[in-house]
Amino acid sequence: MSLKVVKFGGSSLANATQFKKVESIIHNDKTRRYVVPSAPGKRSSSDTKITDLLYQCHSCCCTNTPYEDILKTIQKRYKEIVLDLKIDLDLQPYFQEIVENINKGTTLDYMASRGEFLNGVILSHLLNFEFIDAKDVIRFDINGQLDLSKTKELMRSRLQNVEYAVIPGFYGSMPNGDIKIFSRGGSDITGAIVSTATKATVYENWTDVSGLLVADPGIVNKPKSINKITYRELRELSYMGAKVLHEETIFPVLKVGIPINIRNTNAPEDEGTMILKDASVDLDEIPITGIAGKKDFTVISVEKNQMNAQIGYVRKLLTIFENHRVSFEHIPSGIDSISVVVDDNQLVNGTLEKLVNDINKNCCPDLLEVHPNMALVATVGHGMAYRPGIASTIFTALSNAKINIRMIDQGSSELNIIVGIENDQFEKAIQVIYDAFV
Ligand code: ASP
Repeated sequence: MSLKVVKFGGSSLANATQFKKVESIIHNDKTRRYVVPSAPGKRSSSDTKITDLLYQCHSCCCTNTPYEDILKTIQKRYKEIVLDLKIDLDLQPYFQEIVENINKGTTLDYMASRGEFLNGVILSHLLNFEFIDAKDVIRFDINGQLDLSKTKELMRSRLQNVEYAVIPGFYGSMPNGDIKIFSRGGSDITGAIVSTATKATVYENWTDVSGLLVADPGIVNKPKSINKITYRELRELSYMGAKVLHEETIFPVLKVGIPINIRNTNAPEDEGTMILKDASVDLDEIPITGIAGKKDFTVISVEKNQMNAQIGYVRKLLTIFENHRVSFEHIPSGIDSISVVVDDNQLVNGTLEKLVNDINKNCCPDLLEVHPNMALVATVGHGMAYRPGIASTIFTALSNAKINIRMIDQGSSELNIIVGIENDQFEKAIQVIYDAFV
């Protein structure tokens, strides 16, 4: 029997109109049994998310500045939702409890979690589903890490005889009962955990886009959407900046192979993107799944005659990066040369100069060059493996557009080809690669 866990993001629950869409989506399919809501998101671009208001409220409490006005704004938004939905629900006792906890000196985690908690209470009333507080079914260990096995045990026993329920996203509790939140955007993780614990047939993640697109619509005009993508491809694309899901979402469902379906609350007829453990290669389809990239990298290139014969040279070099707590993205190498590609964020406060000094001192290179302003563009697709001509299509497209490739890196699984180019050619590169394949 099919069982769907459905998570709705903040934009899907930003006001009563959105709640109504969610209600109809859930009631349209009886197998949508466990619902995970986020807190109300922005209603317009100038609006503030409830979670952000809760963070502000907590910061006022900590600095002894009046918090009441912010709490009133939050209360007004929820009141409006309840009024417009015409449901019989008094939120006053919930707000009373929040004030009492503020007066006792509450934590940021507790405050931030109230956005999802209150939305869960409202949604459960609207749907007539049981409300299950996430603090009772999601458990962290004493180090603040998710305790997945305890969580599964608690969740399974609590849901055993509950056919339909709403479980708020974003938080759980510590072994002593204190509320603990995930990192921002963490309701995605809650959805994944509920899916895993209930052995869902599919995890539907409802947002405001009809799934993933082959390329950034800010760069490519109306890019094609992706119907199917594997977890690994998604990992590659999201590492390169294509963000739809919280990064930690994939982990729990990956292990058990539950598909994730990204859907659009504002266009429920669209099938969205299916994220799968494996996908077969369709030779009639285009071989790439997506193109994504990031700007602002620096390449530190080292040349040393006979590097290939010197045992431990690369270790010595990389130890310097480790000692300065700098992680690298790629290390393309030649016989006598190696380049280390580093995100610029890691090279601030004189770190680049310190790295260069230490490399000169400890590795005595024949040549050390620093190339700033580099962008990385990844072309990703499980259909690229064992298919001749993919690299040449990418390189021909870039060369026709007069884009110089400064670095090439192909993962050993042939899942991606990454090229390094100048920052100012980034958008053009994505466009020409897209045009070459799609
Ligand atoms: N409301 C939380 C946030 O804004 C969690 C979420 O939406 O997933 O980060």
